[in-house]
Amino acid sequence: MANQLSKTIIKKHNDILEKEKVKLLAQIVELTKDDPFSDPDHASDNAAIDTDVREQVGHDTIEAEIKDLQKRVKDIDAALVKITKGTYGFCEKCSMPIPLARLELVPEARYCIDCEKKLRIM
Ligand SMILES: [Zn+2]
Repeated sequence: MANQLSKTIIKKHNDILEKEKVKLLAQIVELTKDDPFSDPDHASDNAAIDTDVREQVGHDTIEAEIKDLQKRVKDIDAALVKITKGTYGFCEKCSMPIPLARLELVPEARYCIDCEKKLRIM
C-alpha cells in the first residue's frame, strides 16, 4: 500500500512529534516536582490535617495530569514507530488513510475519525 503522504509531510510530522514529545516529557518532570508528595520533607513535617487534605487534592490533580501527558507520549511513540514502519497516516483499526487535515490537527492520531468515534462509544 503506497503511502498517501509525501516524504516531506512525514518528515515534518516526525519533527513535530519529536518536539512535542520533548515538551511533554519536560512537563511531566515539572509536574512531578510540583507534586507535594514528591517533597522529601513531606513525610517528616507535622502539617495540620487541612494541609494534608490540600496536598492530597494537589497530588491527585497532578497525578491525573501526568497520566494524561503520559498517554500522549505513548501515542506519539506509537506514531513515531508507524513512521519508521511506513504505516504513519493510516488508521490502526480499519487501515484507511487518515485525512491530512486531521493529522495536521492531531499528528499522533492513531485512528480515523470514524474509528475514533466508535472507540469512544465502546
Ligand atoms: Zn479507521
